[in-house]
Amino acid sequence: MSQQIIKIPQREIPVKTETDVLVVGGGPAGIGAAVAAARQGVRVMLLEKRAFLGGNITASYVETCNHFYFKTTFEEDGLYREMKDRYVSHYGRSDDTREDFPAHRFSSEYLKVFLDHFLEKEGVDVKLHAFVNEVIQTENKIDCVVIQTKKGPLAVRAKMIVDATGDGDVAYSAGVPFDQGKAGSGLCQPGTLNFRIAGVDVEKVQSQPGGLNSINKRFRQDQLAGKTGVSCTRQGMALGRLTSAGQLSYLNFCDVYMIDPTDIDGQTKGEVDGRKIVMELFEYLKTNIEGMENIELASIAPEMGYRDSRRIKGHYTLTTDDIESARTFNDVIAVYPRFYDMLALDGDWSKGRAYGSDAVYTPLKNGVSYQIPYRSLIPVVVENLLVAGRCISSDHVAESTLRAISACMLTGQAAGSGAALAIQTDAKPAEVEMAALQGILKKQGVLLP
Ligand SMILES: Cc1cc2nc3c(=O)[nH]c(=O)nc-3n(C[C@H](O)[C@H](O)[C@H](O)COP(=O)(O)OP(=O)(O)OC[C@H]3O[C@@H](n4cnc5c(N)ncnc54)[C@H](O)[C@@H]3O)c2cc1C
Repeated sequence: MSQQIIKIPQREIPVKTETDVLVVGGGPAGIGAAVAAARQGVRVMLLEKRAFLGGNITASYVETCNHFYFKTTFEEDGLYREMKDRYVSHYGRSDDTREDFPAHRFSSEYLKVFLDHFLEKEGVDVKLHAFVNEVIQTENKIDCVVIQTKKGPLAVRAKMIVDATGDGDVAYSAGVPFDQGKAGSGLCQPGTLNFRIAGVDVEKVQSQPGGLNSINKRFRQDQLAGKTGVSCTRQGMALGRLTSAGQLSYLNFCDVYMIDPTDIDGQTKGEVDGRKIVMELFEYLKTNIEGMENIELASIAPEMGYRDSRRIKGHYTLTTDDIESARTFNDVIAVYPRFYDMLALDGDWSKGRAYGSDAVYTPLKNGVSYQIPYRSLIPVVVENLLVAGRCISSDHVAESTLRAISACMLTGQAAGSGAALAIQTDAKPAEVEMAALQGILKKQGVLLP
């Protein structure tokens, strides 16, 4: 049956405000972009669809962030490092008692509050509950971005826009071409619905040989033996902070496979199936794990977390080959440890040991890094738009490393700085002087060659 189409009558939308740099999306990339641009002295507004900032860290409880840097020779840099250091001076270890793997973990609740103040102090004009899925274009420029609010649509006019929505929603609305998922199948990584439990007997759990990790070990054995009663096929889970009050803050296991993160039916299936798996795993833990007999379900993350979706076509597409050959670029804006982390796309974990059939996993190796070029942040077609975060121009496997939170902050920083510099030098983002941009990034603590 052919799809029915209805015409929307012409509308008049009030222009709410005008700004210099408009950042859409308040996750790691958007925070990086907004702060970096504001530090250049231009007016910056940030639009976030949710009630809080932080993206996956807060909305999906991905509090562990840079655990892979722990005990390596790599140094954290740029705004991620600054944000983490400032956070730690406020909140220390966020009530974490874990000694088995004491890498830094944020509390997503403290982080929400921290980010409110952080962005306010930096002079960023933040608007929450501001969903963007429409732009108004004149030729190859975006004139206004339209936000959906309780009072109806409002337009925001900006000289430069940074799309940090994770899904590339602004670029998509502006008609920029994109790729999604694995070439051929189009499959993305699973969505994961994380959750928290309370009432853990901390002493009992930590006194097991291997501490908290013993839970994962036991679960894996039972899962392989088909004894868990959990319908998700994944074999292991990641665990977050364990507080002295008995809260385990992040259980990362409940995957829903083969859904499209940009499709309303896929999103709905993800949340509903995800919650079913949460309950199954919760029951398993309560019934089988010593020290968890009295646990309660404290909270399920506000939204399912996604690791990849649209990758916006840019002036340069970063490839796995670039990363493997450690290709250098004149327009390098970030250097990042090389590792790939792509979960089984089809949910078939039978062919791999820990990772599934079409999964890719290469751990970080000291000294092995790769460069990200500025051109991969500049979309084709639209002149006054930059992209940052997991939706920059790359191939699918390359995305599985540059999607890391601190990498997203670095591309955000470069996009925000590039947008501000373009305004200040009356240039298009694609034309900014690279030495000047790299100089700005270095001043902001980014480690560049
Ligand atoms: C379960 C899971 C575990 C992970 N573990 C790790 C890990 O351990 N370490 C690590 O480094 N990375 C990890 N990641 C990856 C990492 O979380 C993401 O790749 C990263 O958060 C991407 O950052 P981003 O800013 O590009 O997008 P996001 O974090 O997705 O942020 C995008 C922001 O934009 C907002 N937004 C989206 N669309 C719109 C719109 N149309 N209008 C307005 N606002 C919008 C969203 O609400 C959100 O705040 C994990 C991801 C998942 C799902």
